[in-house]
Amino acid sequence: MCIFCSIVNKEIPSYCIYEDDTVFAFLDINPTAKGHTLVIPKEHCISFLDCPATLRNHVFEVAQMLANRLEKQLNCDGINMLSNIHEAAGQSVEHFHVHLIPRYKGDTEII
Ligand code: 5GP
Ligand code: ZN
Repeated sequence: MCIFCSIVNKEIPSYCIYEDDTVFAFLDINPTAKGHTLVIPKEHCISFLDCPATLRNHVFEVAQMLANRLEKQLNCDGINMLSNIHEAAGQSVEHFHVHLIPRYKGDTEII
């Protein structure tokens, strides 16, 4: 069973940041920085590569809205937005997700 599908179905608890009919966003359980957010399609896709275009576009639309919100609310200086594709690139959960990681001037290099 996919852990992110379980989160979408509320079988596993998460700190939900945003939800609509097709997209879900929640705080990362092991944050790189305060506010580290994951944006995912509710429908199971393995990665960016197999996510249908309309759904992929909406994931990024929500990511943009949440990144703007993070910048305002946390007053961060920047944000890393990234999606790891396959294990070799660091993907540990095989359900497409976009990371939003708040960054601050002088903080530790993470990417
Ligand atoms: P990846 O390494 O696949 O790019 O990112 C997966 C992310 O999912 C990791 O940053 C990890 O901390 C997060 N994660 C894994 N399991 C859970 C979970 O059960 N709940 C939440 N909120 N985050 C999770
Ligand atoms: Zn899934």
